[in-house]
Amino acid sequence: MIFDTHAHYYDDAFDTDRDALLSSLPEKGVELVVCPGCDLASSRQSQALAERYAYLYFAAGFHPENLEGMTLDQLDQIRALCAHPKCVAVGEIGLDYYWVKAPEERAFSREVFAAQLALAQELDLPAIVHDRDAHKDCMDLVRAHPGTRGVFHCYSGSIEDAKVLVDRGWMLSFTGNITFKNARRAPEILRWLPLDRLMLETDAPYMAPEPYRGSRCDSSLIPLMAQTVAQLKGLTTEEVLAATLENGKRFFGIS
Ligand SMILES: [Zn+2]
Repeated sequence: MIFDTHAHYYDDAFDTDRDALLSSLPEKGVELVVCPGCDLASSRQSQALAERYAYLYFAAGFHPENLEGMTLDQLDQIRALCAHPKCVAVGEIGLDYYWVKAPEERAFSREVFAAQLALAQELDLPAIVHDRDAHKDCMDLVRAHPGTRGVFHCYSGSIEDAKVLVDRGWMLSFTGNITFKNARRAPEILRWLPLDRLMLETDAPYMAPEPYRGSRCDSSLIPLMAQTVAQLKGLTTEEVLAATLENGKRFFGIS
């Protein structure tokens, strides 16, 4: 019953055993995976994986860390990738002020993010948003695109912003970081968050949950995140897995 809504299986970390791992995931309970691209090359690699594995879907987009040499006319190629029957979102897109420091680069990343939010609306696809140390500008751009729906992946904002996003119909998704002992905001947000707005993800190969923190992550570890949510919400792990599977199918339009 596992839906991993965000895993980067084209990453180098899987070069040695990618096919063996991806072939083994269904027997470990993995029912669906979305693999988001970060630029043209990785969006195309994600498409190739989706063509190879029935349970794997993909998203296409430019990540804010991958904008060097990028030009806005390349969004036409993202638009073309989005026409693929297994492309279920524009992503991952967003802002990252942890890695992107120069003011002109930040300004360009806002321009690219805005253009991709508009593209998601044009194509009637959800957006997968990456927000690192850029909460205010991310929220402002989401507000400026009221016709776009989406998910904040690996949500790290405040409960106040979470409420604004939920009111606008957006989803929040969480990685293995909710299982870390020093998780600060996530427990309060998860206790409050309506169950139908929650999705789970690995962000593989990163963000492995406890007790695997620091090692390579894959979609079979999602039940550890579900267990943390279940404890916070007074549910069973199975109830959380079932709800997040349904939420992901509804959100990405997978029947
Ligand atoms: Zn990611």
